[in-house]
Amino acid sequence: MDPKRIFDTGILYHHYANTAYPLTPASFREYRVDDPGALPTVLAEEWDKAGELSLYVHLPFCQTRCKFCEYAVLSGDDAQEEAAYVDLLSREMALYSPLVRDKRVVGLDVGGGTPSKLSLPHLQRIVEDLRARFPIPSGVGWSIETTPVIAARDPEKIAAIRQLGFERISMGIQTVSEKLLNDLGREGTALIYERAVENIRKAGFAKFNIDLMYGFLHQADEEFAATLRYATALAPDFITLYRNRYKGTSLEREAGGVSLYRVIRQYRLAYQELHERGYRANPGKNTFSRVDGDYGTSDYLTRRVIEGVPYLGLGLGAQSFGVDYLAYNDGAASKRLAGYREKIHAGRFPIQDLYRLPVEESIAKMVSVAFYFGFVDLPAFEKRFGRSFLEHFPAEVAFVLDQGLMERQGERLLLTSRGADYLNGIIPLFFSPRSKRELIDLAARRARLEDGEAEFLKAYAIEAYPRPSLAVDIVVATKATTDAPDAPMRVVLIKRGDHPFMNQWALPGGFVRPGESAEQAAARELLEEAGLTHPSLRQLGFFSEPGRDPRGWIVSCAFLADGGDQTPRYGDDALDARFFAVALERDGDRLRLRLSGGGEALSATLRVEAVAGQPRYTVEESHGIAFDHARILALALAT
Ligand code: SF4
Repeated sequence: MDPKRIFDTGILYHHYANTAYPLTPASFREYRVDDPGALPTVLAEEWDKAGELSLYVHLPFCQTRCKFCEYAVLSGDDAQEEAAYVDLLSREMALYSPLVRDKRVVGLDVGGGTPSKLSLPHLQRIVEDLRARFPIPSGVGWSIETTPVIAARDPEKIAAIRQLGFERISMGIQTVSEKLLNDLGREGTALIYERAVENIRKAGFAKFNIDLMYGFLHQADEEFAATLRYATALAPDFITLYRNRYKGTSLEREAGGVSLYRVIRQYRLAYQELHERGYRANPGKNTFSRVDGDYGTSDYLTRRVIEGVPYLGLGLGAQSFGVDYLAYNDGAASKRLAGYREKIHAGRFPIQDLYRLPVEESIAKMVSVAFYFGFVDLPAFEKRFGRSFLEHFPAEVAFVLDQGLMERQGERLLLTSRGADYLNGIIPLFFSPRSKRELIDLAARRARLEDGEAEFLKAYAIEAYPRPSLAVDIVVATKATTDAPDAPMRVVLIKRGDHPFMNQWALPGGFVRPGESAEQAAARELLEEAGLTHPSLRQLGFFSEPGRDPRGWIVSCAFLADGGDQTPRYGDDALDARFFAVALERDGDRLRLRLSGGGEALSATLRVEAVAGQPRYTVEESHGIAFDHARILALALAT
């Protein structure tokens, strides 16, 4: 399939074409093992192929459910079943133990959910069971997750978790914007984060990571930058960025409102901020490390991502990826305990779906995940699949190299900075032929749906962007009522009745009101301030020099109008309105403006420069003429 077409489709459907392979839960239907009675044999055969594995234990208990959560987390009565769950987990370990006892365990992650929410005795029991059921060699890094609230409020438990053998801890801050946290259904304040970090440091974890998220519809760049600065000031060893993946979460309907450009911009922002503060990562990688030689991820994830080491997931909804199989435990879809519990009570593997994958699908899954680190390790790929990556994907590799999206560095193919921007186009290049077709079909179906602009506009916070006020000023010019051909030009000025420039003379004008065009505002102001009707207005230009109005950032759209034979009649906030005869005198690069009317004499001196063939006027002196209106008059009358 044409790489360019796949690349473009991935870019267009960037919320789908990402490291979470396959595209949809139904994608692998044709590979499903439908006979539950066959599972023990299939699992035995599959694990027989593996020499090593990583373990993942899922603890699905959380304080509250975050709106962006895509994981199996228990709620309602199920959420009270902690003791029962630990027991079920223990029995699941016993089921798998005979299949993998002789394999080398290379990593262990305990995640969730919020594992640290469990009571200490329950955590101890899980660790004891793990040690008893799986031969985990010393030197394997154990990693666990916590939330700031637990780490701040329960320092004894955090210290005890370290004593259980966990060397790495990861804490999800996600954002420091309290408004965004509220919107997302999470707790957190700066005070909690600082105490949490203090407790984690005191507990003596060798590796400490903070998770942050970006790409939310209601997350401004400034807020994200503030979060990054705050997180780096806490000085964790590592910072991991998660781009919100809308797929399958309660925020999914907002996905279309978040453009790829926005997530690219936010990743670039993070990349720069983090690098400036000593956190390093190659382009496209999500975990930034300030520890030399340390990727910053857990052993479980590092080996899984780079080498495609098989992993066994234990617990509700956990995912396992063997050499040639992918399985989801019960609860992955329902987030309920019932199915998982029933199967374990019946002595069966608690699997909801197991797929035996053709090698093309296993390759796609491994390579999709590899982009979590921003590169493909060529020898690791060859070791895992017995074939060369470059030969397996010749057209795709040529495409990414030609386009400057990836580059070869030694035995790795790495994303370039440009490639990091367009990651969602690159990942599907290495999908299986089946999933490439699925992506094209998905795109064709979704093309008929709304593009998300309505969501984007609903969330667009215009108040976050500083805006000027818009005003209008009108030069109403007419010849003096005499037959003489050299009769002077006259303009209407009003005497200001309020600050600023109170009692000085100004052009009629005022602020444009909501729902009004500049032309409508000009016509209204002429009527209200000077009693002039039916003006024929011609736009003169915009006047936007900083400081032109002492009240603040006010941009004026100036008009020229023919006053005809109307007589001005003041109203609104004007104390007077009348014609002034205009005299203009050019002296080298100076223009002198004199205005006289009803016994009043006003004047201004302006410097004249030619800019791009047009005169530009700068007011040097002004006597009795408000704002920069001498400049507007000069532009209207002298050119
Ligand atoms: S803390 Fe994590 S696992 Fe728990 S609800 Fe929030 S996102 Fe989901």
